[in-house]
Amino acid sequence: MTPRSEAINIFRERNETYKLKLIEDMPNENAFGLYFHQEYVDMCRGPHVPNTRFLKHFKLTKLSGAYWRGDANNQQLQRIYGTAWADKDALNAYIKRIEEAEKRDHRRLGRQLGLFHFQEEAPGSVFWHPKGWTLLQILIEYMRRKQKNTGYIEVNTPDIMDKSLWETSGHWQNYQDHMFTTHTEDGRSLALKPMNCPGSVLLYRHGLKSYRDLPIRMGEFGKVHRYEPSGSLHGLLRVRHFTQDDAHIYCTTAQMNDECRRVVALVLEIYQEFGFDNIQLKLSTRPDNRMGSDAIWDRLEESLITALDSMNLAYQLNPGEGAFYGPKLEFVLRDAIGRDWQCGTLQVDMNLPERFGLEYVDEQGERQRPVMLHRALFGSLERFIGILIEHHEGKLPAWLSPTQAVVMSITDAQSDYAELLAAYLNASGIRALADTRNEKISYKIREQTLHRIPYLLVVGNREAHNGEVSVRHQDGTDLGTFAIENLIDYLSQACSAPDTNKEHSKRESLLSALNQFSETHSPK
Ligand code: ZN
Repeated sequence: MTPRSEAINIFRERNETYKLKLIEDMPNENAFGLYFHQEYVDMCRGPHVPNTRFLKHFKLTKLSGAYWRGDANNQQLQRIYGTAWADKDALNAYIKRIEEAEKRDHRRLGRQLGLFHFQEEAPGSVFWHPKGWTLLQILIEYMRRKQKNTGYIEVNTPDIMDKSLWETSGHWQNYQDHMFTTHTEDGRSLALKPMNCPGSVLLYRHGLKSYRDLPIRMGEFGKVHRYEPSGSLHGLLRVRHFTQDDAHIYCTTAQMNDECRRVVALVLEIYQEFGFDNIQLKLSTRPDNRMGSDAIWDRLEESLITALDSMNLAYQLNPGEGAFYGPKLEFVLRDAIGRDWQCGTLQVDMNLPERFGLEYVDEQGERQRPVMLHRALFGSLERFIGILIEHHEGKLPAWLSPTQAVVMSITDAQSDYAELLAAYLNASGIRALADTRNEKISYKIREQTLHRIPYLLVVGNREAHNGEVSVRHQDGTDLGTFAIENLIDYLSQACSAPDTNKEHSKRESLLSALNQFSETHSPK
């Protein structure tokens, strides 16, 4: 470290006015870490490496203009970006990863595939185009099916609620900087909800609950609004308005272990069905500043740990990183190019039931406080779509593709046939379009491949005449010629969501249970 006066002398000698200003702004620092390289000197909190000798493998990546302190009235300076690695291989691997990430950038692909756009009038908010909106609806429908099959109910609560609610929940005191607020002419202050929990709590509290009602698994596709500084906004990955696949589970302490296990099982199943195989779990436990007794914390942490252990799942422990009101489990996905994304969370909460005085009546007729679990599996649907696009490089699995098949005519003579076929596919539950433009078929195939359409259906005179269609997959595989009915069978199978088979077998097993019941109860 270089003493303050010496550092000032060094920069004064070199006429480094900006660095002198930086020192001036840190009146309480007595010494500064200075790094020297030939005639260049700079301050850094370091040390990162002992010596620039260790920085042989580097690359300058970007150059940009920046105003001193981000103020356009100040002089413009040059900002130079670079990266340095221990050896050449690590550097090359990094560069490759960056190129790969750029190729997958969901903002570029979102434009190219016509899914969504952003514009200045609504910073951090998504303009969903029909295809992107279809994708979002597919995710919601998928999650609805899952929730229906695992005992959830779905509700909806208001977007704008009175300040007093946010005061009770603690958001007004602790989170106001991130909230959009509004005032009415009768003097009320209201806020757009940044989280769904308080609304859910009011629904729970509406009417006295008995132990027979629990567990209540209350799902809501709530749109939440959080003010994020404009500098931190990033495509779909960080927005100001997003949809959560949120749910709150109200249960007794005795039911907590089982409820945690159910959530973990559900989240793992879902991620695998979306093509993520590498999932890490992180468990954050009691922080120094916390509410509730150690005995309660023991119980809450144990329920999460027991759930993970009983499923033989490894997890990373983050001691002291939990929220003040309860421990937290995070689910981290690794994508196709090795990046980690934290998506789902499961949180145990003692705070809100306490603040809102939640109760249920137990077997003895005594009033008890339920435990509240918060869980979101996709997290933000908008962000999850961004991750999906990057993970699959825009080539979404057929069941997620907004358009699953496009029927292309070779000449005008098959236009009507192509239109009819596309209409029939749609009526059969396959999202299809017709491309009857007066263009060469090779051009159409190339363009529809760039649009990441999974199935390319070509009809020429022969196909139209024989009631057939020739089928290609977007990866270039020629799947051959199909009769129309066979095509419907093939595409229905190839484009169905991964959980629809399970739906089918569930229906079958319920039917056989019904039959069995009738048999055993036949009148004698
Ligand atoms: Zn919540």
